[in-house]
Amino acid sequence: MAREIKRLLIANRGEIAVRIIYAARELGIETVAVYSEADADSLHVQLADYAVCIGGASPQESYLNIPNIIAAAEAWGADAIHPGYGFLAENPTFAKIVESHGLVFVGPKPEHIEIMGDKVEAKKAAKRAGVPLVPGTEEPIESVEEAKRVAAEIGYPVLLKAAAGGGGRGMRVVESEAEMESRFLAASSEAEAAFGDGRLYLEKFIMKPKHIEVQVFGDEYGNATHLYERECSLQRRHQKVLEEAPSPSIDEDKRREVVDYALRLVREIGYLNAGTVEFLYDENGSFYFIEMNTRVQVEHPITEMITGVDIIKSQILVAMGERLNFNGDELPINGHAIEARINAEDPENNFAPSPGRITLLHKPGGFGIRIDSHVYQGYTIPPYYDSMVAKLVAWGKDRDEAIRRMLRALDEFVLEGIRTNIPLHRRILTRKEFLNGRFYTNSLERWV
Ligand code: ADP
Ligand code: ADP
Ligand code: MG
Repeated sequence: MAREIKRLLIANRGEIAVRIIYAARELGIETVAVYSEADADSLHVQLADYAVCIGGASPQESYLNIPNIIAAAEAWGADAIHPGYGFLAENPTFAKIVESHGLVFVGPKPEHIEIMGDKVEAKKAAKRAGVPLVPGTEEPIESVEEAKRVAAEIGYPVLLKAAAGGGGRGMRVVESEAEMESRFLAASSEAEAAFGDGRLYLEKFIMKPKHIEVQVFGDEYGNATHLYERECSLQRRHQKVLEEAPSPSIDEDKRREVVDYALRLVREIGYLNAGTVEFLYDENGSFYFIEMNTRVQVEHPITEMITGVDIIKSQILVAMGERLNFNGDELPINGHAIEARINAEDPENNFAPSPGRITLLHKPGGFGIRIDSHVYQGYTIPPYYDSMVAKLVAWGKDRDEAIRRMLRALDEFVLEGIRTNIPLHRRILTRKEFLNGRFYTNSLERWV
């Protein structure tokens, strides 16, 4: 072991902070939670060995406050930091600062975050690696005129995307030249506000694609492997709602093809630790690279359920300098897993966030059911952060059993005091198109 981790600081909150505490504890590693003034009652604060308040409720004051997080790590004697997802997870400056303080960053090298965080640079790397791309610009677009010219070349509809994008923000479909100017300005200002970077690029808008992504892993000895794919086609506003693994839409040959594309990119940049390579899959059976996420993904549990590999533990072990101790090609896919993101939002009011106190909670259980969550009865969901309250995961020996099990668990779930999207999941799981696999990234918004 190149470097030992004895005490891990978790620079995050919510379910992922809890998930990381579980993994660390099973590895015999102590944990330091950080929390905002709004999160004093949060479960991760109670579960960790140590907990440090790092600032006010707004993310800028706490979960994005790099000096306070580094100070907490030093004062509490942590030797490593796990960033989770969101917040600082894809901030290369943070990764550099962590390393410059002699702390281990549980994630890729700063340069990997930097390349993949700029989607234009990411597409260049994918192109070098021989991975198929969505037709579009190879550099950011400088003006509305240029956008019109490129769009005329590749043909409408096109998609304007933020080079610095994430979480589905800064994206606009443009159906015709007449719409270009207003959409360009809207996407650019949304990107500027969200990421402090208004640069846009343009892609062919793929009609009726599926979203298929590959879980990858690299270690510092040059080993690269995969844990198969997930299908995340069911989305609202470009955000995933329900995911499954393996994809019900591809056969063995297509699986091999997409896994190979993902591994080419990992090898091209010498990627380290866990990552996800995202593709669109069109009706003609072609894959197109869209982006790489250089962190653990929200939907990682479904991959764990079908492969038996603990992704968070593997991240920590790779960060300690260990070799990857699994090889995707030799791991059989065991059954099928589905994740339903349970959000505190009101399906009857255009899915507006519905924070508040959980007055009654009963979580479903039984064979094949897993819940990753930070909420408990009596807990008040603060209004400052994202609205996910639980990830409900159902495993089955096949897709049919996983679906039936998920429906059974959704029926049993009791969450009172807040509104949730549980009724939406029930509708998805009983749709004919869902059952026969004929659904695309635009399907869910048509169904609701
Ligand atoms: P993943 O790619 O891991 O499945 P998503 O694509 O849904 O996650 O979200 C990407 C990132 O955006 C995540 O790190 C998540 O924390 C954040 N995010 C998710 N939902 C929202 C939201 N409603 N508003 C802002 N950020 C969000
Ligand atoms: P983010 O960083 O916000 O996750 P992505 O590039 O991963 O952005 O795109 C998010 C979603 O937007 C995809 O899962 C897909 O549904 C849709 N999307 C992205 N690019 C295209 C495209 N070229 N054509 C059609 N849909 C797209
Ligand atoms: Mg994405």
